[in-house]
Amino acid sequence: APVLALDVGGTKLAAGVVSAEGTLLSSFRSAETPLAAGPEAAISRLVDLGEKALAEAGHPEIAAVGVGCGGPLDPRTGVILGPPGLPGWDEVPLGRLVAEHFGPPTYVENDATAAALGEYRWGGWNVENLVYLTVSTGFGGGVVADGKLFRGAADQGGELGHVVVDWQGRQCGCGARGCAEAYVSGTSIARRAAEALLDRPDSSLAGVGTLTAKDVFEHARGGDPVARAIWDETTAILGRMVAVIVNVWEPDLVVLGGGVTRAGGPLLEPVRETALRQAMPPAAKACDVVLSHHGDTVGVLGAAAIAYDRLE
Ligand code: ADP
Ligand code: ZN
Repeated sequence: APVLALDVGGTKLAAGVVSAEGTLLSSFRSAETPLAAGPEAAISRLVDLGEKALAEAGHPEIAAVGVGCGGPLDPRTGVILGPPGLPGWDEVPLGRLVAEHFGPPTYVENDATAAALGEYRWGGWNVENLVYLTVSTGFGGGVVADGKLFRGAADQGGELGHVVVDWQGRQCGCGARGCAEAYVSGTSIARRAAEALLDRPDSSLAGVGTLTAKDVFEHARGGDPVARAIWDETTAILGRMVAVIVNVWEPDLVVLGGGVTRAGGPLLEPVRETALRQAMPPAAKACDVVLSHHGDTVGVLGAAAIAYDRLE
């Protein structure tokens, strides 16, 4: 039987019905995550999207519900533990609330961890060691090592977004200073650009209004030096971060996904070049850095992969 897969991001919500072969039978997404209205409003929107996906797929019998959400969260209880990208989601029993609506079994997982498993199963890569990094509203990662999802002692391992890249660096939403997420995330790209504008009101970004990472990318491509500097800083930090990952895990593949990777080559190429130049030569030779083929559906496919994995 297929599974229902739900994806909770800081920018968008998505739902889909996914077969055991990883085929998306139906999918829906919301234009935005209604963050200001609190978790209940967002979860009720998520449930609506799930109902729409089930209706579109012809109301199939489903084997389970998989839910991907920004961490930290407890995948054993399905409780969300105050992710920086989801303000007010402190101790929210997402798993229980979803199960009350659709029925158990319902499995909740860190969205990047889920996407790593989705890429491993259905990415078409045919490798046993894969690290997935999502550059979206936030920044997170997941690790498949020797063909198995790496979980760690508290089931929340592979949390790569909060690796410190500058111990005296920017304040991160997690409370620490200088985490990768404080630089490599859509939120930080937009925020750093807004800060840079205070000194450089001549930038073409000045006319935009409320900035997004997408604006920064488009103006960088258009030749604006302020946007360009933010973009280059972001890819330089991400490239070095990927080099560390390549040394530590020696993956066959580092897969990049999430909304910011819609920028395509101008994100991938500098990151790939920096990472493979900076990593230890044997590890670098064994590895490649690529973009996910799944685009916006990577979160839904990941949540589905988690549901199948936990059912097995
Ligand atoms: P979520 O975090 O909810 O899963 P996404 O993965 O879609 O959402 O990521 C949203 C982020 O992606 C936003 O910061 C947005 O500005 C950024 N983004 C979307 N399209 C592009 C693009 N073409 N280039 C760069 N950034 C983009
Ligand atoms: Zn942090």
